[in-house]
Amino acid sequence: MPQIKRLKPQTAVNHSIVAYFTVLHAMALLALVPAFFSWSAVAVMLFLYWLTASIGICLGYHRYLTHRGFDLPQWLAYLTVFCGALACENGPIKWVGQHRMHHAGSDTEKDPHSARDSLWWAHMGWMVHTHPVFDNEKTIRNWTKDFCEDKFYQFLDAHFIKIQVALGLIFLAIGGIPWVIWGIFVRLVLVYHCTWLVNSAAHAFGYINVKLKDDLSTNCWWVGLLAWGEGWHNNHHAFPTSARHGLRPWEIDLTWFSICVLRALGLAKNIKVAHLTPVPEEGTNRVFFSGEIVKKAA
Ligand SMILES: [Zn+2]
Ligand SMILES: [Zn+2]
Repeated sequence: MPQIKRLKPQTAVNHSIVAYFTVLHAMALLALVPAFFSWSAVAVMLFLYWLTASIGICLGYHRYLTHRGFDLPQWLAYLTVFCGALACENGPIKWVGQHRMHHAGSDTEKDPHSARDSLWWAHMGWMVHTHPVFDNEKTIRNWTKDFCEDKFYQFLDAHFIKIQVALGLIFLAIGGIPWVIWGIFVRLVLVYHCTWLVNSAAHAFGYINVKLKDDLSTNCWWVGLLAWGEGWHNNHHAFPTSARHGLRPWEIDLTWFSICVLRALGLAKNIKVAHLTPVPEEGTNRVFFSGEIVKKAA
């Protein structure tokens, strides 16, 4: 892969984040100790993997708040975004700001985690560095003008780590050390890497439906499954506002199922969905797609 040399010299290693990730992974390894195993702890981990990753990050932070793929009543918007904050991947303002930067300059020097820089950089290298522009508070506010004045979202940005500590203490009180190891540490490591695979593997492996300029995004089936539908990432880069990412029959999109449930309950409205049209490539038997966004009023 060609390397972008402009990003790295401007960045400095953030030693606190390195320490945080190191401790987190080390604590997750304690799950291998038989004394820290319990089936209820595994169940808590799996439930929170779904709640914080699919409902929180994919539905709340990403498809609703970043791309406005549908409307939610305010209380439910706050609730899903709160679940996103429980994934401990920054508060919503910083997360959305940096993700909007990613779409605005995907795989160019304007991208906070360009996959051209290396898969490691796109996966987690960019997070253990502080960038003067991408991590600048004013820049982030400029990218989130539509909601960065919201007091609840500001609260989540300021306190998401304390909220995680509070959750850990609740788990300690209810299920003891096994719930903390599995429900906090194992779950955070799992959710982090599944999210990060969207930025790394789904910009490198798989196939494309839509040809995009300067953009390496791919549809990667195993990231699609692990990251609750977000691995159909070439579809997503082609149609960012589409609330549905899996667009072909086999492209299973588990977060889309939850949006359908919210639609059936009358809670998700004005849902935007991309519809694909086949475009056979001249001179070959390959078929790519173009598409358009259709609005479902629900
Ligand atoms: Zn991407
Ligand atoms: Zn996106």
